[in-house]
Formats: sequence, C-alpha cells, structure tokens
Amino acid sequence: MSYVYIDGTFYEKEQAKISVFDHGFLYGDGVFEGIRAYNGMVFRLTEHVDRLFDSAKVIALTPSVSKKEMEEIIIRTCIENSIRDGYIRPIVSRGCGDLGLNPYLCKKPSIICIADRISLYPPEDYENGLKIITVATHRNYNESLNPRVKSLNYLNNIMAKIEAVQSGVKEALLLNPLGYVAECTGDNLFIVRKGKIYTPSVQSGSLDGITAAAVAELAVKRGFEVIPGLMSRFDIWTSDECWLTGTAAEMIPVTSVDARSIGDGKVGPIYKMLLADFKHLTETTGTPIAL
Ligand code: PMP
Repeated sequence: MSYVYIDGTFYEKEQAKISVFDHGFLYGDGVFEGIRAYNGMVFRLTEHVDRLFDSAKVIALTPSVSKKEMEEIIIRTCIENSIRDGYIRPIVSRGCGDLGLNPYLCKKPSIICIADRISLYPPEDYENGLKIITVATHRNYNESLNPRVKSLNYLNNIMAKIEAVQSGVKEALLLNPLGYVAECTGDNLFIVRKGKIYTPSVQSGSLDGITAAAVAELAVKRGFEVIPGLMSRFDIWTSDECWLTGTAAEMIPVTSVDARSIGDGKVGPIYKMLLADFKHLTETTGTPIAL
C-alpha cells in the first residue's frame, strides 16, 4: 500500500486527490522536486529543498511550510511508505482558484509528497549506452520560463520526449533558442574531450542539476577539470565520452548522438570510474530517514 501526503494528511494512493480547481492542474502552476533515497538516507535533501523553494520564489509562490517542515514531510513520507531506496516527489501547487489565471485569487498553496520506486531505463541501456537525437523543440527561452525553475509545466520537455519517441529513440537533446546545447528532457549532459569534462552552463538553458553537481564534485576529486559553458553539437559529436545525469536516471552513458557514435561507440572509462564513485557517494551519504 502506498500513502501520499496532502496538506497534513496521508491518504491511500487511490484516495489521494486534489481539486480540479487547483491551478497546478488547470495551468501547471506550481513547482516540484525529484529526490532519491539510498540505503535509508535521502540524497542531498537540503539541496533539493533549497531548489524547490527557489523555483517557488521565481514564480512568486510562497509555500505554506518552512524548509525545515518540508524536509520533515519528505522524511515522514518515506517512513509512511517504508522507503529506504526509492524516489520522492514533493510538489507545491498554487492551490484552488477560479477559472481565470490570476494566482492571487488562489486561496492557499497545496503541499503534496509522493514516495515510490522508479526505474527509467532497463539495465542494458546502462551497459550499452543510450542513442539520442537532437529534436526540433527548443528549450524554453530563459525569459519565457527559465529552465532553472522546476515547474509543474513540463510541456516543453514532453514535446521533446514525444519527438524522440516518435523517432525511435528514448531521449532527446534540446538546444536553446540560440542553437547551443541545453540539456535532455529530464537530465543534464556531460562530455569528455581530450581528458577534460564539459557541461552546458545553466545560462545555456538547463536545470541546475543536483546529480550533475555531485558528479562534477567527484570528477574534480579525481583531478579532472570540469568546465561549464557554451556547447554546440560539434562538441558532442566529436567528444570521446558522453553521459547524462539526473535524479531518476542517475548516470547513464550515451554512445550515439544524431547517428554519430561517441568515441569508439562504447561506454567510456571516465564514465565508469565516476559511476562507481557516484554509487559509493549515494550509498554512504545523505539525511537518515528517521525523525
Ligand atoms: N534537467 C531537467 C529538465 C530535469 O527535469 C532534471 C531532473 N530533475 C534534471 C535536469 C536533472 O536534475 P537533478 O540531477 O537535480 O535531478
């Protein structure tokens, strides 16, 4: 049985419902996070809650709980669902309003938290690497809806995912309106060129990934230079290695982009080394699931 937290109460999955007048439902007006628990600990909980509150602030949404209370809700939801290894989804939605857009007419933001298991890709994709393509859908222009906001409106990403799936691949690479590489539909991107690691900067139109930050720290510990910046597809097509990072996908290698094989077309050694470091980090660090 799975239990969902909604505004102070846990409901059985089938009874966990929000109003159709909630602007989260009507307009995608709200923010969320995707967090993982490993080995009885929540990975980078503070960072996720900080990002949730930053996303909320940018859309002028004030959660009805403090950051500390939000952390407690996340931990309680794990306990309620006996989750030691799993995926947690806190949501702050604008709450119930009328059928107009005006968020100031919404009474009170709703706090929702789901904890479950997730598996995005089968093990063979981690062993052989993903084939991805660039899609025509661009990442949002920073000043329309900044991609750093993890909002409930994921249609930009979903449109890109649709293009990828229609073309027979599982993931899409999105460029920003200037044609620079931004990110994939739910993951940040890294490449290796001549022993240095590169990733699109957040200003290129990507989410400030928490997995990406952890992997970059591990790479620096291993003595690599990690360089955020502008990246074009030239850089990716001619790279030696490529991988994606995200809470749900964790670290997944990419061996083909737009039908160009990356490096020798096999999963690379730097990816493998950092993956081992990442697994160790997630198993040994985090906020204990206990009150
Ligand atoms: N980009 C997008 C668009 C995402 O939705 C996600 C997943 N939250 C990421 C990147 C990866 O971020 P994180 O490592 O913090 O999960």
